[in-house]
Amino acid sequence: MVTEYQLKQAIVRVARRLDTKGILTSTDGNLSALLDDGGTLITPSGCCKGELEPDRIVRLYRDGSARAGKPSSEIALHRMIYERRPDVRAIVHAHPPFATAYAVAGVPLDQPILSEAILALGRVPVAQYAMPTAEELAKSVEPLVDHHDAVLLRFHGAVCFAKSIEQAGYLMETLEHVAHIDFIRRAMGSNELIPASEVARLEQLRAAMRSR
Ligand code: 13P
Ligand code: ZN
Repeated sequence: MVTEYQLKQAIVRVARRLDTKGILTSTDGNLSALLDDGGTLITPSGCCKGELEPDRIVRLYRDGSARAGKPSSEIALHRMIYERRPDVRAIVHAHPPFATAYAVAGVPLDQPILSEAILALGRVPVAQYAMPTAEELAKSVEPLVDHHDAVLLRFHGAVCFAKSIEQAGYLMETLEHVAHIDFIRRAMGSNELIPASEVARLEQLRAAMRSR
């Protein structure tokens, strides 16, 4: 069993790693993870997530009330994802430059260009535009969370969710990496795609891996 403090340390580690990679910039983004007792740990609002210490992570009780500190303004988005996806234990929201450019352009990352991306990330849709920090952002993402582990937020950024905070962080890194590669192959004028029969095999393997 992971203690509250250990989970806070893990959130801080992932936030620093994403900050170092330019995936979390300035005071952007937020991270959360579930505790075994039904509580939630979430990053505080409005501070640089790459400079956090474990003690600054906000602990929410089962009813959503905070023990101390000001929780992330995107709390409604995090809560909705945990409610809809009982398998999800951690969430990362960020504004990484390449993935966010796709979110701005309204272009989903759903072209089968990388076998590993199909396995690890799946297809990434774009949610309809909604005001950040508001309940309406959660509503815009809600129709997409059952069948995806990563969603682009129109004119805003991205959100990734997984079984652990490490996995959610890796998913955000993969999303940005795939967006970068997709951007380059478009610039090269490549329209090469993995053949449909191979995509079907990869998607079968992804489904099997996810149900494990
Ligand atoms: P918080 O600092 O309140 O978590 O907000 C950052 C953000 O990215 C809002 O969309
Ligand atoms: Zn944001």
